[in-house]
Amino acid sequence: MFTRIFMLCLAMTTIASAADDVLKLQLRSRTEVGVSEKPAAWEAKRTALIICDMWDDHWCKSAARRVTEMAGPFNDMIKQARARGVFIIHAPSSVTAFYKDAPQRKRAQAAPFVTTPVPLATAQRWGTAWCWTDPKHEAVLPIDDSDMGCSCVGAKCEIREAWKRQIATIEITADDAITDDGQETWNLLAARGITNVILAGVHLNMCVLGRPFAIRQQVYLGKNVALMRDLTDTMYNPERPPGVDHFTGTELVIEHVEKHWCPSFTSADLTGKRAFRFQEDSRRGKP
Ligand SMILES: [Zn+2]
Repeated sequence: MFTRIFMLCLAMTTIASAADDVLKLQLRSRTEVGVSEKPAAWEAKRTALIICDMWDDHWCKSAARRVTEMAGPFNDMIKQARARGVFIIHAPSSVTAFYKDAPQRKRAQAAPFVTTPVPLATAQRWGTAWCWTDPKHEAVLPIDDSDMGCSCVGAKCEIREAWKRQIATIEITADDAITDDGQETWNLLAARGITNVILAGVHLNMCVLGRPFAIRQQVYLGKNVALMRDLTDTMYNPERPPGVDHFTGTELVIEHVEKHWCPSFTSADLTGKRAFRFQEDSRRGKP
């Protein structure tokens, strides 16, 4: 009898901890003078993870190769986040029509309309709403991506429509949602009382900052925003200013985000494993 009551208590404790899981994050921020890290405890059920533009292919061969390399560890991280109660939003920009019959896409479209506290971005880029670099909020980007950032050595890749869907390695499960739309994202978050938003995916100097579901827009909307800094990448050609290697270029943009927009943390805080690192990244030190 005693054992049975004990087991029941144990089971109830387990259920309670799964429902009330708290994410312990080391949030790194930056000022002009230095870098600081402080611990944060985010309720999993009040947190969304938005996966930006992890497409099946890319016009730049190097960019496509890096997404493929990242996709496995990325999916492992998502599984952990999902199991702990984080709401997963897949945001493969411009190819959500591929999922038009999926219940996860319909979930995003069916979320009840909620007015945003500030108007959503109306500027346009690449056929969608876009939050451009904001001189009131940030300095110019530390890398020159005006050539669109093909990092291939030798012949440069030709810009073309290369992507059709999210990369298949990343699983989309029953309770997830699919959208690349700012209003739909807001509606989904509102319906779940979500106040914390984690951004991961590519490319940090473009879509992870500028898309209507991404960092700038979420900060304008007043969410607690954080960037997962190891599971991201940039479009940066080392032949352009400031003339550093590709991965240092990415690190500079991460620093820019930490200084002007939101703190960052690594997937290690969620998975308990080592942070992700690209094989071609020969720099020393941690991401
Ligand atoms: Zn390329």
